[in-house]
Amino acid sequence: MRIAITGGAGFIGSNFILYMLREHPAYTIVNIDSLTYAGNLENLRSIEHNPSYRFVRADIADRASLEPFFQEGLDAVVNFAAESHVDRSILTPDIFVRTNVLGTQTLLELSKQYRVGKYVQVSTDEVYGTLGDTGLFSETTPLAPNSPYSASKAGADLLVRAYHETFGLPVNITRCSNNYGPYQFPEKLIPLMIQNALADKPLPVYGDGRNVRDWLYVEDHCSAIDLVIHKGVVGEVYNVGGNNERTNIHVVRTILEELGKPESLISYVQDRLGHDRRYAIDASKIRSELGWNPQFPYERGIRETIRWYLDNQEWMNQVLSGAYQQYYQAQYGNR
Ligand code: NAD
Repeated sequence: MRIAITGGAGFIGSNFILYMLREHPAYTIVNIDSLTYAGNLENLRSIEHNPSYRFVRADIADRASLEPFFQEGLDAVVNFAAESHVDRSILTPDIFVRTNVLGTQTLLELSKQYRVGKYVQVSTDEVYGTLGDTGLFSETTPLAPNSPYSASKAGADLLVRAYHETFGLPVNITRCSNNYGPYQFPEKLIPLMIQNALADKPLPVYGDGRNVRDWLYVEDHCSAIDLVIHKGVVGEVYNVGGNNERTNIHVVRTILEELGKPESLISYVQDRLGHDRRYAIDASKIRSELGWNPQFPYERGIRETIRWYLDNQEWMNQVLSGAYQQYYQAQYGNR
């Protein structure tokens, strides 16, 4: 198979490329990424000379620069490319609409024109909005996004659906809960907290810290997408989640405990605007229909993740330089 993976230099995309080349060494992968602040080719250094892998720097909203790769023929397109951080979507929503909505529509149009075998849209549980203390998101839960990020992802999902219904494009959408693991940009909860704890800096926790997320180890997300590419029933949506609901404060305490750091480092900060209270996923459809079986219980995954960041401080230092410093300063001041 020849697969185009967009956003392959980001957190999940780079884990997915490494996973696919390991699991399917005969496949050819084209990684299309514009290298925003979140894209990092260091993540893929171990495979940069692999003849089955090719990197192309291009913007998914720029049709002309993508067209040659579609002309060569693609069996599948997996779209990870996105602006992905909710806090940034509150500061600059326009970039989110351009990449997440217009970029997705550009990929759909090219996939239609060049008869791509399968188009997979990597979406998020955040499109469903927020839950109360009970209940789970299923694939039929109405979309009710609350942030500019999730609204732009929901807009993209609806376009994917429309290209299937109107043009017969063979599509799938996956909606996954929060991922964690190696190579995650340190603006996201787990690497941010690990990094600050290691530096004995305060750990900024939004609101009362009791917002609940359903955590999934990134490799389990990769195996779900692999299954959907090959076995997903055309036109279907698949929720992906690990049944690992944890409050943010629980996650932060685990990190402090693992690193032997004091709880006095926790610093509650003003809550994020429109902060969703709870996400939880019903993943029974992908489990029963496609046989997906996640391998990493939360306790093991979080320990391995902390160990990875400890062992890869050089990666972290490189990521933490430059533009990220300006963003951190604007978001949290001198904390
Ligand atoms: P990320 O921010 O780490 O990576 C995004 C990548 O997309 C970067 O490499 C960036 O350079 C690239 N990119 C951004 N704009 C682009 C453009 N216009 N053209 C080409 N490339 C562009 O994101 P992530 O956490 O790896 O998330 C990947 C996908 O998975 C996103 O679509 C996100 O919505 C979805 N998702 C993420 C999570 C999570 O917990 N991180 C959970 C569910 C779904």
